[in-house]
Amino acid sequence: MSTATPAKETHKFQTEVNQLLKLMIHSLYSNQEIFLRELISNASDACDKLRFEALTDDALMESDSELKIRIAFDKEANTVSLSDNGIGMSRDEVIANIGTIANSGTQKFLESLSGDQAKDANMIGQFGVGFYSAFVVADRVTLTTRRAGTTEAVCWDSTGNGEYTLEAVERDSRGTEVVLHLREESSEFADGWRLRSIIKKYSDHITFPVVMLSEPAPAAEGEEAEEPKDETINDASALWTRSKNEISDDEYKAFYKHVSHDFEDPLLWSHSRVEGKLEYTSLLYIPSKAPFDLWERDTTNGIKLFVQRVFIMDDAEKLLPRYLRFVRGLVDSSDLPLNVSREILQSNKVIDSIRTGSVKKVLGMLKKTAKKEPELYQSFWDQFGQVIKEGPGEDFANREEIASLLRFSSTHEDVEKQSVSLDAYIERMKEGQEKIYYITADSFAAAKNSPHLELLRKKEIEVLLMSDRVDEWMMSFIQEYAGKKLVSVAKGALDLDEIETPADKEVQEATEERAKGLLERITTALGDQVEEVKVSHRLTSSPSCLVLKEQDMALHMQQLMKQAGHDLPDSKPTLEINPTHPVLEHMNSESDDAQFGEWASLLLDQAVLAEGGSLKDPAGFVQRLNGMLMTLSKS
Ligand code: ADP
Repeated sequence: MSTATPAKETHKFQTEVNQLLKLMIHSLYSNQEIFLRELISNASDACDKLRFEALTDDALMESDSELKIRIAFDKEANTVSLSDNGIGMSRDEVIANIGTIANSGTQKFLESLSGDQAKDANMIGQFGVGFYSAFVVADRVTLTTRRAGTTEAVCWDSTGNGEYTLEAVERDSRGTEVVLHLREESSEFADGWRLRSIIKKYSDHITFPVVMLSEPAPAAEGEEAEEPKDETINDASALWTRSKNEISDDEYKAFYKHVSHDFEDPLLWSHSRVEGKLEYTSLLYIPSKAPFDLWERDTTNGIKLFVQRVFIMDDAEKLLPRYLRFVRGLVDSSDLPLNVSREILQSNKVIDSIRTGSVKKVLGMLKKTAKKEPELYQSFWDQFGQVIKEGPGEDFANREEIASLLRFSSTHEDVEKQSVSLDAYIERMKEGQEKIYYITADSFAAAKNSPHLELLRKKEIEVLLMSDRVDEWMMSFIQEYAGKKLVSVAKGALDLDEIETPADKEVQEATEERAKGLLERITTALGDQVEEVKVSHRLTSSPSCLVLKEQDMALHMQQLMKQAGHDLPDSKPTLEINPTHPVLEHMNSESDDAQFGEWASLLLDQAVLAEGGSLKDPAGFVQRLNGMLMTLSKS
């Protein structure tokens, strides 16, 4: 038996690839020309990789160090081909890269699709379309490739119908050639003029020359036709090295699609050159839409690192903090060695300064947008606000700056949309109000309807309504903003500064005095279930509420932590009661202690429920409630 690689073998696509292909063909139907951008982008990446690897092993360049991408077409055969003399792929790399989806996030994403093609097609913009976009215009694609520094080449061939073949072949030149056998209805692409215009439109910024054979004018009678020559179609300079005012918005957008593999235009970008002690250029983009894997644990940071225009690495995670992981783009430094590795980046002063500068750039760009184009900023917030909320806990140095970018729901409009900034809140503060009030709950409805807001609503004091999971954690890092304290209305004593009038205070004292006996009875009835029972100043229409200590975690969070298996110390809440509420007035007249105890338990349990907590004895609660209802229906 021979162990040699068989001449030709057939492999099946991964199921997800089939799904992706179908979606892609469907969704890109009206935007077919982008296949060229995607394939040129891959070829350019391959040249970048070769240039990088050749830094330490110049034999890889063989005798062909002029990296370029060549596009050709054949009208008769109805084909378009692209070749590059970049890094190429080994047989194993072809199997791993083409026909497989390695990224577990992409797999999960595809599994979650609904199956309704028209609906799912809208989702495709969330990830790069890449190599498979070839099948949008071609019904057969062959890819021949030889990895730099090796001698074995391989040919991959597929009609996109679930399988592909692999065959060992001879190939003199290093790199990859992709031949697209165009579909009948896509034959328009086998045309020099069309290809040139698409290259200019999408790939002008590619740093390697994209060349095509010139199309000589028809020869005059009796003369010999001119030999066609290589013609460079694109600008082929690194876009980020050009000066800002020479670069059009369209060029910036096209470049974004290349670096980000995103399908849609970016929302914002910032291009800057830093000179002086440290020299670097950064071009940072904010996408319009959150990528599907924003919440995956292994989501990478989207910043490419270049050193003196040579591509060094993707996902240079040290260049931006996690809470800015959605930013795409590149940094090109003149102060790092070309052989810089990830290990070196871990603790490198140059990188630290670039990171500090880049964070400032991104935050500055967001701040400016928030001020000048609030609608645009809102659409940013809707996509990425949740991630920005990780900022205060991660980046202490910029806490105030990040806080100014936050947006919340509030009782000002009582809508779920998060659009209120801390600055807008401060502008609306009542005379005498010194603090910023907020509440956290496990849903918007729970926050909005919380009994803790009753008095504040009556006094028309705005309260920020927070119901994202990250909020409670985030707020533990923001105790102050612009010199104003941030205070949870569900924790600690509610001190309304100067807003409570002397008349209010008198009424309160009188109520407390009258409720003394009632308070004692409830305290006795509840025993050690609560820390304390108090007369509430914050309730106007509910009979009771729970109040936590300032340092306590909100009940709905405690709940989550417990469900996740964390052991939490049992902290006892304080129960506040509203003695002017009819239920409490009724209780006051109840002489039977056992009956009174049932009422008191109900007061406590309903307050726990309103906080999003869970009852220790839900069945007991239901029984008591029914008991009460029966009494009521009899009376
Ligand atoms: P992406 O470019 O987003 O990773 P693609 O589907 O376009 O996804 O490509 C998958 C992988 O195949 C690339 O990451 C790269 O490793 C490899 N690849 C594609 N085209 C080429 C090429 N021309 N030369 C070398 N490798 C390539």
